[in-house]
Amino acid sequence: MALEDSLRAQLIKQFPADVLVLKDDFHKEYYACPTCKRVVAISNTKCMACDQALKWENIRVQEMEEKGKKKATLTFEVPADFVKSYCRKCPISYIAKHDKENMYECPLGMRNNCPLEIN
Ligand SMILES: [Zn+2]
Repeated sequence: MALEDSLRAQLIKQFPADVLVLKDDFHKEYYACPTCKRVVAISNTKCMACDQALKWENIRVQEMEEKGKKKATLTFEVPADFVKSYCRKCPISYIAKHDKENMYECPLGMRNNCPLEIN
């Protein structure tokens, strides 16, 4: 039975678990493996000590909230020939005048750094 238990434990560790934020004796925060509680290096996808798969989404959300920011996601349709930074084809772009010329502008101000993820 012991073998089965350890196999099960190995299997469970393949499912990413949220990294913990713990405090050391000096009240300094560090990131820890949720399974073995050992320190994990930032953005590691696996615990070096026990092979637990790690996920960082909640940590990132927490960090952004601490900075007074949250992440917002909006899903909308774009034409099939849309590519990133193709503001003319983007449904959220607007027309602004630049030196008397009309230009498609990005409402996020990210014209050259288009954050859209196309699926
Ligand atoms: Zn671990």
